[in-house]
Amino acid sequence: MAESEEERHLKLTGEFDCAPEPLPTLRHSTSHVMAQAVRQLFPEVKVAIGPAIEDGFYYDFLKATPFTPEDLERIEARMREIVKADHKFTREEMPREAAIAFFEERGEPFKVEILRGIDAPTVSLYHQGDFVDLCRGPHVASTRAIKVFKLLSSSGAYWRGDEKNPMLQRIYGTAWLTKDELDKYLWRLEEAKKRDHRKLGRELDLFLFNEVAPGVPFWLPNGWLIVRELERFVREVLDARGYDEISTPILVNKRLWEQSGHWEHYAENMFTVEVEEETFGLKPMNCPESTIVYRHALRSYRDLPLRYSDMGRLHRNERSGTLTGLFRVRQFTQDDAHIYCRPDQLQDEITAVLELVRAWYKTFDLQPFYKLSTRPEKRLGTEEQWDRAEAALHDALRATGLVYDLNPGEGAFYGPKIDIDIQDVLGRRWQIATVQVDFAQPDRFSLEFIDTDGQPRRPIMVHRAIFGSFERFIGILTEHFAGAFPTWLAPVQARVLPISEKHAEYGRAVFERLREARVRVELDDRNEKLGYRIREAQLHKVPYMLVVGEREAQAGTASLRRRTGEDLGAVPVDRIVSELGAEIGSRSATLTVGR
Ligand SMILES: [Zn+2]
Ligand SMILES: [Zn+2]
Repeated sequence: MAESEEERHLKLTGEFDCAPEPLPTLRHSTSHVMAQAVRQLFPEVKVAIGPAIEDGFYYDFLKATPFTPEDLERIEARMREIVKADHKFTREEMPREAAIAFFEERGEPFKVEILRGIDAPTVSLYHQGDFVDLCRGPHVASTRAIKVFKLLSSSGAYWRGDEKNPMLQRIYGTAWLTKDELDKYLWRLEEAKKRDHRKLGRELDLFLFNEVAPGVPFWLPNGWLIVRELERFVREVLDARGYDEISTPILVNKRLWEQSGHWEHYAENMFTVEVEEETFGLKPMNCPESTIVYRHALRSYRDLPLRYSDMGRLHRNERSGTLTGLFRVRQFTQDDAHIYCRPDQLQDEITAVLELVRAWYKTFDLQPFYKLSTRPEKRLGTEEQWDRAEAALHDALRATGLVYDLNPGEGAFYGPKIDIDIQDVLGRRWQIATVQVDFAQPDRFSLEFIDTDGQPRRPIMVHRAIFGSFERFIGILTEHFAGAFPTWLAPVQARVLPISEKHAEYGRAVFERLREARVRVELDDRNEKLGYRIREAQLHKVPYMLVVGEREAQAGTASLRRRTGEDLGAVPVDRIVSELGAEIGSRSATLTVGR
């Protein structure tokens, strides 16, 4: 399980971790000013922690009742006074024991708890005006440096992210260097709210969540159509590239997880079940099982590479407090594959995966960014293995002509990897795809192939996933497209709207034509005003509306409209059918019919 912000924060530093970069320093300083304002207005609160985070900051407070929007306004106003007062940020070093006594006297139990966990003789405190905080710094010189900020929201958050701990009240805010940056950020935030996949998921009837299965969506027909289209896409693409699809069990004896090392390192994230006095685990990954398929037959150098795709349904025991729509779930389906190859085939295999990734994301109008992570300090495998694998990844990236970032030392302990982020239309980055070389699993599972000289050798294993998980990817796509999916993914691709009852018969004929052409089409011949029916189709983001009346029936046409409101005028139904078929068949990211 990924660490919560708090855990990471506390573990890293025992206090505050701010890179000495302008924005995080500014944001972290703003969080101190916010804490100062809160202490002045609500003297009874206890302060917890207040780190800089991506795009902003927060601070957690122990307070009996939640902050109200009016509270936030008052706090922000008080912050502006503190900023104007030009308090200097001053650093003070103190023996740890003295700091414990100091914060005990001030009645700050969370600071005392943090201090007790710090393994250092001396700690630092930062003062500004009447406020003092346990903090490593750095900070801006004076509160005057904080010019552009805004408080955004508040919500409950457990101390250290653990539901057994007290519930704190967290206030989120943002701070920037210029007003322009702040305005852009607020726009993005507003836009992201409108595009929230949980909201759109309800409006478009894609999925629902029910308390009987926390963190697992119930797919509704519309959402499941998207899952099916994506699965079909995966299968078509992989079939054409020499992958074989397998399917492996979900419930597996813990012996396998012991052998793979998951039991030792990952057991707390696994769901387990007792069956006939033996312990089984729901698979959190497909890898160990794919090795069983590999070992099922004697492999020769001629059999390699083997590319096993496995759209496995995985379970991971995420804390209920961290579950977020489709972004953080307990059950998900990964578009997983494992490639087994000879060392001399590695570079070609990686190159092929990178080319696949590029073509794949183009389909969704998403831009990929590549990060190569190389050998960490603690690692398995020989230097020669690492040299070869890193060179293969470098060369594959170069051969594909890709620009990439280098993360030295950030590889997995079992091999180097390329992580791929995508950037959505709001400029947000999502890490979804990964290509990882693995020297460890082939050893653990004694995988072999018979080489040209008749000797057994170890194959290299490559893990790769491109959507990551279907669930999360659909969440990202929903927000990226604001629910207006490309036609091939749209649950309903076209809607036929007869102007009135008199045109119902022609409307039905047009509807049947499209249905025969395997377009997902609906006929809306309800006794409602045309304008109302058009608006409703637009709200449901149906790509095309075919409005038909007397003139259209005479001419064999339909008046074609897009969900954007564009009216394309009369288009022959024949042409609509063939162009729509082509748009869907080519998985076009944009609407092309009737142009
Ligand atoms: Zn600080
Ligand atoms: Zn794997």
